[in-house]
Amino acid sequence: MLPVERVNRIKGLIEKRKNIKISELSHILNVSEMTIHRDLKPLVDEGFILKTFGGITLAKSDLNSQNENLCVVCNRMIHSKLAYRLILPNNNIEMTCCGHCGLIRERQLGNKVIQSICQDFLRQTTLSAKLAWFVFDSSIDLGCCQPQVLTFERKEHAEKFIKGFDGVTVSFDHALDLIYKKMNETNSCHNHHT
Ligand SMILES: [Zn+2]
Ligand SMILES: [Zn+2]
Repeated sequence: MLPVERVNRIKGLIEKRKNIKISELSHILNVSEMTIHRDLKPLVDEGFILKTFGGITLAKSDLNSQNENLCVVCNRMIHSKLAYRLILPNNNIEMTCCGHCGLIRERQLGNKVIQSICQDFLRQTTLSAKLAWFVFDSSIDLGCCQPQVLTFERKEHAEKFIKGFDGVTVSFDHALDLIYKKMNETNSCHNHHT
């Protein structure tokens, strides 16, 4: 197999699997690990993959191509419209299905989170979660986690939204407190403590 063919095979594998071990690639492609490292170099340089301990992981996390991914908190399928991403040290990215799970994960990880990205519910643009406005208790049911949390970039959009669909608008810090309170209200057992 030509090196260029091998690189294409690797690209295909990593796109499907999201992460894979060097030793496994070496086995699948029947070449030495050193050869695999050489093949990976251009992919690392162009930012297509990231090197992890003993393996590689897909770097480009295009939201629309990640529908197969599952929420790190509740294992639901992630829908790109509601997805919430947490950027962690060492280029690790975690995805949750919605703002609800995003906030829960924020509480679990605390200041390990470098940055979080959520989406404006109306405009489908991405924004930093710390600057977002969180709407709780609206009457529209999107079928994801309860209590439902929606995110908005602009406060006036959130306020207009709750005029039509009820709910309350809170800032990021308040949302972290509120999700915690609400989880304790709805769960008689306290297994959700973190
Ligand atoms: Zn979830
Ligand atoms: Zn959810």
